[in-house]
Amino acid sequence: MIAWVPELIYVRGICESNKALVCDAAGMILKIVDADELTVEKRVNLPRRALLPGMVNAHSHAFQRVLRGRTEHRSSGRRDSFWTWREMMYSAATRLSPEDVYDASRMAFLEMALSGITAVGEFHYLHHAPDGTPYDDPNLLAKEVVRAGRDVGLRIALLRVAYARSGFQIDVNPKQTRFIESDSEIYLKNLESLMSSVRSPVVSEAASGNARLRRAHSENDNSTPEVCVPNTAWIGVAPHSVRAVPLSYLKQVIGFANKHHLKIHMHVAEQPAEVSACVEEYGRTPIALLQTEELLSERFTAVHAIHVTSKAIASFAQTGAMVCACPTTERNLGDGVVPANEYFANGIAICLGTDSHTQIDLLEDARELEYHLRLQKLERAVLEGGGSPTVREGVSAATHAPPSLAIRLFDCATINGARSIGAPGGSLEAGMPADFFTLDLDDPSIAGASRDDLLPAVVFSAPRAAIREVVVSGKPTVSEGQHLIQDEVVERFNALQKRLWE
Ligand SMILES: [Zn+2]
Repeated sequence: MIAWVPELIYVRGICESNKALVCDAAGMILKIVDADELTVEKRVNLPRRALLPGMVNAHSHAFQRVLRGRTEHRSSGRRDSFWTWREMMYSAATRLSPEDVYDASRMAFLEMALSGITAVGEFHYLHHAPDGTPYDDPNLLAKEVVRAGRDVGLRIALLRVAYARSGFQIDVNPKQTRFIESDSEIYLKNLESLMSSVRSPVVSEAASGNARLRRAHSENDNSTPEVCVPNTAWIGVAPHSVRAVPLSYLKQVIGFANKHHLKIHMHVAEQPAEVSACVEEYGRTPIALLQTEELLSERFTAVHAIHVTSKAIASFAQTGAMVCACPTTERNLGDGVVPANEYFANGIAICLGTDSHTQIDLLEDARELEYHLRLQKLERAVLEGGGSPTVREGVSAATHAPPSLAIRLFDCATINGARSIGAPGGSLEAGMPADFFTLDLDDPSIAGASRDDLLPAVVFSAPRAAIREVVVSGKPTVSEGQHLIQDEVVERFNALQKRLWE
């Protein structure tokens, strides 16, 4: 047994001192006890560290990491928007080889690990070769992304995207041919095949990357750099949007997911044009369509869900579905503001995603969820109190409980995300895996914080650089702010960017 002994630990809404997190050899939490009670456990002292549950990034398109810094300008003098950005994104998406997808994904996942994220929901829509023909293994690229997640040591829900068409009465955009599986039978066949292979370790054609990794790693450490822990990878479904998946196809995908107890993620109402196209095709908004066709459930996460009415939010609340907000991407793409206050008032849980990876910092997403509403409403602490906004049960106003706003935002980044993608973890308690990160209490950004104000200091003020250790299933992946395979991943990614853009 290992006992992690930090100066402060955040457990179910309360910061405590003089506590130890005790784990078994499999990396599961056995108990959280007073440090004085430790006996035979191997003790890992973490002086001047705060220990918090690992964060869960519920919405990622890992390959979009290659776009960073390359779309922050107007394209051809026009008014720039989500739609012009999308064309630039497609121009990168159509040029990546399977190995490139692996390298780009590893870079994104590495940055996630460094920022305290221990599980990711990867909304994966690159399926075919650049000319649109399926690979011999139709799941080759999905497996490359899963392998990247495992090699970095993140839990990963591979949410396999269904993409049938460019839109209602719209011809196929040639840049979308890598995504499209126009027949739902083919999609489901490929999905089943992926489900059976991801249960066992993924070995792909680009396994040479692993050999390189092992060489790079073995100079410092004899263990393999892959953190192959149980439940590191699993499959969910992701019908892309009502624009890209017609209703009959959508019903088959969601029917399959319900039968097999898979999580369902879908982009919903990210842009006004998507809503008006849905009204034109079905006479209903996306939320109304999903709700009246009985496609929403506790398994369903609506990503973005920005352009919605109060009436739609009230009916959405009846279904148990949740919302994934991606504030740093939504501000970058000019999407709009998630009405988180209305979702919370209706008892709807919100999780968070870094989405296009302009930044990878889930704490920034957490604070932006609140900050966007402050700018809109000219008020402070908009999301404090009221309703039943999180998956957590029974947070009391105990001594040393942080203010409810910080708890609520941190829950969005942890337990709500875990529920959304079906990950174990999200909170520190017996029976959960030991997935956590630590912060340096002497980092200038949070220096002086006490146990009473630590959580708001972290949520509103801590940068990624204050994160020092990250542990998944009891195994360290980040130590002293450095990932085990960081140099090799960055080097490979630098070479990829040079190849892609120079
Ligand atoms: Zn997305």
